[in-house]
Amino acid sequence: MILFGDYHTHTNFSHAKGTIEDNVLAARKKGLKQIAITEHGFDHTAYGITRGEYNLMRMEIEKLNAKYGDIDIFCGVEANLLNINGDIDVDKNERKAIDVLVVGFHKAFRIYSPKAFFTFFVPNVLGIGRHSKRVIARNTQAYIKALKKYNIDILAHLKSNGCIVDPVAIARVAAERGTYIELNGKRIDFTPAEIEGMVKTGVKFIVSSDAHRPERVGENHRGMNIIEKYNIPPEQVVNLERIPHFKNCNKDVEE
Ligand SMILES: [Zn+2]
Ligand SMILES: [Zn+2]
Repeated sequence: MILFGDYHTHTNFSHAKGTIEDNVLAARKKGLKQIAITEHGFDHTAYGITRGEYNLMRMEIEKLNAKYGDIDIFCGVEANLLNINGDIDVDKNERKAIDVLVVGFHKAFRIYSPKAFFTFFVPNVLGIGRHSKRVIARNTQAYIKALKKYNIDILAHLKSNGCIVDPVAIARVAAERGTYIELNGKRIDFTPAEIEGMVKTGVKFIVSSDAHRPERVGENHRGMNIIEKYNIPPEQVVNLERIPHFKNCNKDVEE
């Protein structure tokens, strides 16, 4: 089984090595049919790109799509979950220009309110009460609210970076909403029971590298091992020898 596309890669537009074209060339070399460039979203205080840089990325990607006819290149964002209300750092208009909306939790997110500081930053970044039932329930609800509010394509590295959640509860809603759960190439923090529970919900998985160097594009031994070890049905993995369908980011459910 081989991957047809890699939908989570970084370039020197943020903190990674290599240009967009380097990632595209690496993807073509590995026989990928699609690649998404997904730089960190605007409210990542360490590596987030600016909106101006995002527009430059888009232009560069349009140019490369014209240059290389044998691969689809998508302009994406790895948006940040910002608070327990499930808000992310991409607004409605911006989502219109995003081909692939990936959402993840990162420690360096901009804090907009004291409530976000106490209920989201303190437990998930400072680690105070990180493993308490209350914090896990709140984080889980934050993801569920985000899934219902936005048309998210992919949830990246769920349960990693210190934001503990109940992935099975999130997978249930992701399955209903058609959002893919990523098996990340750098870290997978699910327990065996959580993987089995997620598979039972019928949620679809996507295998991406989270490459920060061109040579890592299309690489994901961790994800492939999990698929094999837990016998995840191939039809439940959207980029294994097939091309996934991404949601239209223009349409919001609520708002
Ligand atoms: Zn990330
Ligand atoms: Zn990433």
